[in-house]
Formats: sequence, C-alpha cells, structure tokens
Amino acid sequence: MGVTLDLSRAPAKPVAPPNLTGLSRPELAAALVDAGVVPEGKAKMRASQLWRWIHHYGVTDFAQMTDVAKETRAALSATFSLARPHIVERQVSKDGTRKYLIRMGPGIEVETVYIPDVGRAGALCVSSQVGCTLNCTFCHTGTQALVRNLTAAEIVAQVQVARDDLEEWPSPKEDRKLTNIVFMGMGEPLYNLDNVATAIDIISDNEGIAISRRRITVSTSGVVPQLQALGEKTRAGLAISLHATNDELREKLVPLNRKYPLAELMDGIRAYPGLSNANRVTFEYVMLKGVNDSPAEAKALVQLLKGIPAKINLIPFNPWPGSGYECSSWSTIEAFAAILNRGGYASPIRTPRGRDILAACGQLKSESEKVRASARRKIADTPDA
Ligand code: SAH
Ligand code: SF4
Repeated sequence: MGVTLDLSRAPAKPVAPPNLTGLSRPELAAALVDAGVVPEGKAKMRASQLWRWIHHYGVTDFAQMTDVAKETRAALSATFSLARPHIVERQVSKDGTRKYLIRMGPGIEVETVYIPDVGRAGALCVSSQVGCTLNCTFCHTGTQALVRNLTAAEIVAQVQVARDDLEEWPSPKEDRKLTNIVFMGMGEPLYNLDNVATAIDIISDNEGIAISRRRITVSTSGVVPQLQALGEKTRAGLAISLHATNDELREKLVPLNRKYPLAELMDGIRAYPGLSNANRVTFEYVMLKGVNDSPAEAKALVQLLKGIPAKINLIPFNPWPGSGYECSSWSTIEAFAAILNRGGYASPIRTPRGRDILAACGQLKSESEKVRASARRKIADTPDA
C-alpha cells in the first residue's frame, strides 16, 4: 500500500543564514555573487575586504565593516551571519590551561583546549569531529559515539573563540599568546580531511589569523591512505599516535592497526611530503604501566624509527574513570626517555596540562554526549528496548 505524506501544512523550519567564517577566499567571493549582494566584477575585491574584517579583526557584526558601503553592509547582514558558536562552559586550570565546551548546534558539542607555554608561546588543541569512530582503548574520546564531522567553519570557530577569550584581535604579528595549533582534540582528523584542509587554509592565511603552516600539526592514529593527501593539501606538520612497536600490542591499543599495520604505516610516513630534519614527524607514545613501557620496547622504538627524521613525545597516560590503565611511574618514563635519547631521538616528556579540569590528552569528551550515552544505556537496559 502506498503512503503519501502531505507536507503542505508542515510548519517551515527556520533556516539559519549561512555563516561566512568557514569559506575559503574563492568560496567567499562566489557566495557574495550567488546571493546577489556583490556584482561579479567586484567580488574578488569585496571578498578580500571582508576577509580582513572577519579573519584579521575578528568582527562578528557586518556593521563594524566601516569601509563597506552602508547598503552593502545591510544586504550582507540580511543574508549571512558571522556569529560565533555558544560557549557552554569555560574552565581555567591551576596551570593556566583553558578548556572551552562549545556548542555548534543542538547536541553537537566539542572541546577545545588552550595550553600556555607550549610551542612558541601557546598552543590550541582543536577538535576535528564530535566524538570518534575509532576505539583506542586508552582514550576517553573513543568511548563517545561519533555524532558527526565538524565543518570547516566549526573548526575555524574554535580558533576564533580562543582568540576572543585571549583578547587577541586584531590578529597581532608579534607577542602572541596563541602561536600553534594542534589537531589533537576530539576525533580523527584524517577522516575529515577536506574540512580540516579548508580550515588550515583559512587559519594560515597571512591576511587573517596568520598562523603559519609550520606551526600547525595534525595528529593521526594512522589512516595510511590519507597521509599523502594530508601533506599535499595542508603542508602541516605530521604527528603519529604510535603507542606500540609491534602489531600485536598496537592492535590492542589502536584497533585501526588491524587495517593499516605498522609496516604500511612506516612506509606511508617515510613518503610524507616535505619530511626533513627541519620538518620532523612527531611520534606520540602514551606511557601505560606494564603495557608498553619496558626498556626493550624503548630499544625497539629506536629501531623502528631508524632513518625517519623524528621526535618522540612521551605522554604520561591521563586517567579517566573506567579506563582500566595506569600511568607508568615517573622513573620508568625517565628510563624510557634516556634510551631514546641515547638512540639519537629528542624525546620530551609531555607534562600533563589541565588535568584538574579533565583537559589533558585523551580526557576530552563532551558532557552532553555523556548524558546522552547514559540515557541510551538506560533505554538499552529496559527489558523491551
Ligand atoms: N585522533 C587523533 C588525534 C586526537 S588524540 C590521534 O589519535 O592521533 C590526541 C593524542 O592524545 C593522541 O596521541 C592520543 O593517542 C593521545 N591520547 C588519547 N588518550 C589519551 C590518554 N588517556 N592519555 C594520554 N594521551 C592520550
Ligand atoms: Fe580517536 Fe585519537 Fe582517541 Fe583513537 S586516540 S579514539 S583516534 S581521538
């Protein structure tokens, strides 16, 4: 039996005006023409003008664009938006780390963390997805069901929100508080490469936020087929979440290793565009007590990385409720680092930052989703569900 839906009387959903924040320069010019706000001949010039206002001055209101004609400003604000997403929560750690819980839409919440005194002056750890589809067993984010990829606008918005909070507009050339960006927040950036690449184009543009590509690092759990594209599209620094030196253990810690085993991963890394001694791969290695922290494993790591321009970041495991892992002792971590140093690798131990506000690596997980997950469990626990 056929069913016809009569939608003629369904109430129209209010449509949010398109936000210009996540558009590349050519996309911005095209959007202005398509909306009939700017004639084609003037599109490039107008787009450059708007670009400076949006990304250099950080304005959120077209009325502030004083060198744009009044009628054009009115047409722009009737058609487009520059609004920032809502900050649900802002927490500041004892050590100065700032964590923002940002609502991108109903039920779409991500965490972004600003860490002072990292990189040149301060690094922003941004999320690329809400949750993550990969279930690395030591990672809190991995326990959160993926809601969706973030758009380029939502990735750029995380930088803007931090800049608002740091009062860093117009984008300063010197003495910045925010100098580095790391894609080490929630999600697997290489599963959202197009939006990550567009966001990096916007963030690195010299007439805007102007954070150079050399100071942007993308961390991946090892999505080998996307490594080449990442290098070609973004020219960003590469970080690899390694955590183990043999396939058997890595499969347990990073299940994606079953799909892309170590030998393939290492080949993919060796071929990463632009790799050199001045431009080394960062290997992240989380220190798990009794799991991957023996001297033999440190030696195996030195062997594994032979010939690759690399630095190794040892990350003390950050505990979260129910993780089932413990962090290696400080003396074990130091002994591990000493072996790597003797093997010729710089291997700084990453000081955990913002632990008191659950802002450290792998602790990110948006509260809203936690609530939903527990609600889901409740439904699953009801006999008829
Ligand atoms: N999905 C990407 C980027 C986000 S994870 C990736 O896996 O690389 C950022 C880093 O935090 C990764 O190196 C990840 O392995 C590490 N990490 C995850 N959980 C952690 C925890 N509980 N303690 C310390 N580091 C953790
Ligand atoms: Fe996802 Fe990275 Fe966490 Fe693994 S470590 S679950 S890839 S966010």
